[in-house]
Amino acid sequence: MSPDSPSAVSLNPDEIRATIAGRVFWCWLKPPIDQLFAQRRQEEFSHLVYVGWPLLALLWVCIGAGGRMLFPQELNGPDGVLWWRWLGAMGAALVLPILLLHLPTFQRHYQKVIFVAGSVVLAIAVLGTHLLDNPRLTQMNSYVALLIISILVLPLRLSLIVSSLTSLTGIFVGVGIVLLLGRPVDWAMMAWYCLGSLLVMVFVGAVIERQERISFLQGLLLEHESSERQRLNLALERLAQQDGLTHLANRRHFDETLLREWERLRRENRPMALLFIDVDFFKPYNDTYGHAAGDECLAALGVVLQHAARRPGDLAARYGGEEFVIILPGTDVAGAREVAERILQDVDALALPHAGSQAAAHVTVSIGLAARLPQPGEAPQALLDAADKAVYAAKRGGRHRIVIHQDLAISA
Ligand code: GH3
Ligand code: MG
Ligand code: MG
Repeated sequence: MSPDSPSAVSLNPDEIRATIAGRVFWCWLKPPIDQLFAQRRQEEFSHLVYVGWPLLALLWVCIGAGGRMLFPQELNGPDGVLWWRWLGAMGAALVLPILLLHLPTFQRHYQKVIFVAGSVVLAIAVLGTHLLDNPRLTQMNSYVALLIISILVLPLRLSLIVSSLTSLTGIFVGVGIVLLLGRPVDWAMMAWYCLGSLLVMVFVGAVIERQERISFLQGLLLEHESSERQRLNLALERLAQQDGLTHLANRRHFDETLLREWERLRRENRPMALLFIDVDFFKPYNDTYGHAAGDECLAALGVVLQHAARRPGDLAARYGGEEFVIILPGTDVAGAREVAERILQDVDALALPHAGSQAAAHVTVSIGLAARLPQPGEAPQALLDAADKAVYAAKRGGRHRIVIHQDLAISA
């Protein structure tokens, strides 16, 4: 995403809606939207350069060939030499800017390049209308001038001010050179063909650009709304998978992940470990400190468990009430035991006072651990049952300890 792309710039959708609603004769754009619009136009121009230059070259060839076919007699005399020079000058004035505009540096300043090149080409057309003697050739040149003005104003994605200035500069430079050469200026032709057509083109250009600006704003709104919808969907999806109190994965997310990971590990022939964690004497905790303090305690334990599930595939979830589970894919008994020991230590380190506990002076947990290679046709429930049995054994053994299902050896 470019740093100036609409999603990167903070846009105010209400402001955009107000701008669309407020347009009457013109649609003014405020920063940073005006810069985005200018950037969009520059990108469009960059595309146009690649598509447009062969068309321009074709037009130039058509004017040359058309002139030769339509005016064979007129081009025989001295006008002929002038005509071909005129066409050559026109071609030369077009080649350099076309080459330059293929370079990104010049594309960024395309309005300036077009201003210079457009003025020169139009000045040559105006000169042609005055220096050629034959009225038919003069008329043909006037059409060419008109064509140049329409190209400058309509398809080139210039701002209306730049295209008008370019056209006016071309007309005045052309007229100035005619005056310097001491030739009479055809003022009527200049006024009707050049200035008149410029006025009409600018009006048409303004109507088109106003609509273009409104469409641009509507596009921005659509883009904003779709990224907002995407963001909300993601947030909803996350919420639907989360436990509200501890922010760990909820039971549903746990069930889905357990099944998916179990199947994956069965295919890969790798083990899965499961920790079943139950808070010791939690009922007395609620009775002593109140339900709200109990909630805070569960939230604090949630942070510890989240921290313990370090690897990308690990998942810590709230199984229900004061019971938690951690899925450790690709982990064997030894690895899972390390994680369980760390949890035991980290919960101890929290040192949440628990006067009602018979296991310690602070909140503690009991952990049941089970790990196995998923067998074909076996459901992950077997692993869950094993971890559940182990946690029962830990409770029976005095709590605040880890019990591994495979040997039910008690460690603490
Ligand atoms: P043990 O050491 O054998 O696990 O005893 P225990 O008291 O922890 O277990 P028991 O199953 O008797 O009680 C669990 C308690 O957890 C009962 C219930 O009120 C409490 N509990 C369950 N969910 C929540 C909760 O979301 N918030 C709070 N504050 N308490 C909860
Ligand atoms: Mg329990
Ligand atoms: Mg308990």
